[in-house]
Amino acid sequence: MQNLIFRIIQIDIHNQNYALLIWCEKMALNHSDVVLMNDAEPEVYNAYGATVVAWGGGPTDDNQVDMWAKRIQSDREKRVRHACSNAWMLTATAETLAKDPGLRQAICLDPFLDPIVPPWLWDFVYKEVPSYWGCTNNPRFREHLRNRIILAAMAGADGLHLDDHVGAAGTVQHGGCYCDFCVAGFRAYLKNVFSPMELREKGIDDIGSFNYLEFVRRFTSSRQGFVDALKQGEIPLSEEFQTFQLKAAAALVRELAYIFKKMRGDSVPVSANSFELQPSQIVDSEYLDYFVAEVHHHLQLIRHQAQSTSIETIREWKIPASLIFVYKLADALNKPLAATASGWDWAYVKEKKLTGLVKLWIALSYAFGHRLMVPHHQWCYTPEKGTHWYDGPTEEYAPLYQFVRRNKEFFDGYEAIAQVGVVYSNLAVRRNFRTVHDVCLGLTNANIPFGVIAAGDDWLNHTITRRELSKFEIVAVPEPSMLEGKQKRLIEAWKRDRRAISLKNEKDMLGHIEPIVSLRNASKVWALPRRIKQHDAPIVCHLVNWSYDITKDKMTPQKNIDLCLSSKLFDGQKIRKITLIDFHNESTSLQYEIIPNGVQVVIPEVHLWSILILSLT
Ligand SMILES: [Zn+2]
Repeated sequence: MQNLIFRIIQIDIHNQNYALLIWCEKMALNHSDVVLMNDAEPEVYNAYGATVVAWGGGPTDDNQVDMWAKRIQSDREKRVRHACSNAWMLTATAETLAKDPGLRQAICLDPFLDPIVPPWLWDFVYKEVPSYWGCTNNPRFREHLRNRIILAAMAGADGLHLDDHVGAAGTVQHGGCYCDFCVAGFRAYLKNVFSPMELREKGIDDIGSFNYLEFVRRFTSSRQGFVDALKQGEIPLSEEFQTFQLKAAAALVRELAYIFKKMRGDSVPVSANSFELQPSQIVDSEYLDYFVAEVHHHLQLIRHQAQSTSIETIREWKIPASLIFVYKLADALNKPLAATASGWDWAYVKEKKLTGLVKLWIALSYAFGHRLMVPHHQWCYTPEKGTHWYDGPTEEYAPLYQFVRRNKEFFDGYEAIAQVGVVYSNLAVRRNFRTVHDVCLGLTNANIPFGVIAAGDDWLNHTITRRELSKFEIVAVPEPSMLEGKQKRLIEAWKRDRRAISLKNEKDMLGHIEPIVSLRNASKVWALPRRIKQHDAPIVCHLVNWSYDITKDKMTPQKNIDLCLSSKLFDGQKIRKITLIDFHNESTSLQYEIIPNGVQVVIPEVHLWSILILSLT
């Protein structure tokens, strides 16, 4: 503790330039932020108009603090906030493990006490020591992580990013972790959470002597056999064990965030790689300021198809439902998201040079109010090649990011307008029901503006409120919803008032509302309206052409888009002017016609991404 206090004093002296941080009103992400994943040269910052390094380097020992402090300060002078990602909750790394026998004892073990290595790090070995998975329940590994956080804060990091933030919980599906600390921790967890009667119902007569390691060994004699049995649901208490592991990891994230903010200030953000915002990845979301996360863009499906055929036979990359859903769930959790595609996706983009597709991903992310990180030095992975990197052509991608920076007044502060609220049940998705994903995609394709309402459970601390439901004209409840208690009663009350309906698929929604945005011709364009809480400020409507032809790696231009916007959008105000901005062209003033319930405008062409600016009087 003395050491920690000394370091906190040291950092106050260290950061005489703290005032510079004031330039940024809000340290969490803004809609117009351009986010680089890794550190880069100043030319890259300039080319893209970067404002944040979200997954940057940081000191790994005391000797590096000054060097990183200078680097972070230099970024700050360029108006770039530098978040350090120097505490990897997955592994201490092969090199550190090779040099530190103590950390080599603080690793994840399977039920046969064999160490576990993350399968995708098979090619990271140092002096014959693999990248063993570190156990985040082991005090030694926790101390290692705490020290790294302190070093990042001492260097004056403008943010902290935690990769593989679920730590040892990530080993559950690989047969871990059954080290002494995890076994003891699980015993304490069961004792705290369940009554003696509930424990007896689970087959535990004496919690004091209960040993989960001995318990699970009875079911199998090999790791693979154990993992297979887990997948088949044949291992008792496996869900309780996973819950214990996830909550232990979340508690550690909370502690690390606390230490970092204690040193750097509450406004300096903490993020995590909350992969695809899956239920297991958002247990700790209440301790995070934003997400910096990998999201599958599902090119691996095309890769699998392409193994049996050539790419020329595959006509279309379809937007995956989960991608739309992830952006909307981030809104529901009130956390900005800086996304990247998965290692598989980037490997395929690199191999096939699919720059046109990546441009669509960028447009889509900003139109949904988030941002795809700049495709510079993105991690690629295939089992054959292992880790490799993608540095995309700057001249192709930079104009999109520069377009955002030039027009930031139409991004920052704007939030999605939504008529329909779609209930996301964390428990239902844990149970592999994916109706909510399909509903989100269906509503997007039908151009029905919607938002997601998050219904939490014992993993996600988020409860639906009356106030949240009231924001929407109608609430859609994808079934099965698996809601309980207060949340169930609230939704039932909403249904009785005919303000909520159950959905088995997205088509059930059509006919229930009159969309405030409608396309009269069948264009493959998404129209996504957004507004800002500021009287007389324009309303914006992002137009994204999603007609992507993978054989040409281009969008098929969508022409003469006949768009009607309901007067509900304007809240009693009148339209003064409609302007179209496009990252290819200058802005264009458009003719429009006032119709009985709104306004009609024809957009000559949407090449990839344009924004309608509706100025009001
Ligand atoms: Zn462990």
